[in-house]
Amino acid sequence: MIIAIDGPSASGKSTTAKGVAKKLGITHLDTGAMYRAVTLGLIQAGIAHEEKEKVCQYLSEMEIVFDTSNQIHLNGKNVSAEIRTGEISSLVSATSALLEVREEMVKIQRKIAHGNDCVLEGRDIGTVVFPNADYKYFLIADVKIRAKRRLSELEKIGETKTILESIEDIKRRDYLDSTRDHSPLIQAEDAVSIDTSNITIDEQINKIVNQINHNK
Ligand code: C5P
Repeated sequence: MIIAIDGPSASGKSTTAKGVAKKLGITHLDTGAMYRAVTLGLIQAGIAHEEKEKVCQYLSEMEIVFDTSNQIHLNGKNVSAEIRTGEISSLVSATSALLEVREEMVKIQRKIAHGNDCVLEGRDIGTVVFPNADYKYFLIADVKIRAKRRLSELEKIGETKTILESIEDIKRRDYLDSTRDHSPLIQAEDAVSIDTSNITIDEQINKIVNQINHNK
């Protein structure tokens, strides 16, 4: 069983996907974390996006692994905290727009999900990675609410921003993710839309879990 959860930044995908996976006892794959890890890796290696050959070389050599606690490791190092900084958030959309990066990530995502029941969250799961997913959801939320969620995530790692800066960051990332040439953020025609602006986390999770249990 494949469950695809797509949507823009801070629309509630991670919390929902984590909760659904826990309730159903299945794998949770945060594909955004993978694009963030590649962004970090390219910065650390000093490789610019224009250096196509070096980017391809890096992609062929790097290793992305999720451990049993769903922490992400890049080339053997746990980078779960490092990939959540404001710097990576502001650069990740440019990295994820590269076709070479997308092809490699999709390959890994399909491999991880192969033969497993899996909830995948991202931007292109229901449209590109698993167009035949058993269940597809598209999460949305008011931009101010999303900006507040992002601010509290940043606070946890000691970064501060104003609400206006956070709104601008979110709008910019939405724009870049939905206007890129390859696999842009778009709702699959057969995805169920869920507005998480004014519902609780439990309600978000139960909407999906109840539908799946009902169809069993
Ligand atoms: O979900 P999260 O905000 O961590 O995703 C970070 C970035 O990774 C997105 O803004 C987008 O550029 C990219 N991404 C993507 N395709 C996915 C998941 C994430 O392009 N399936």
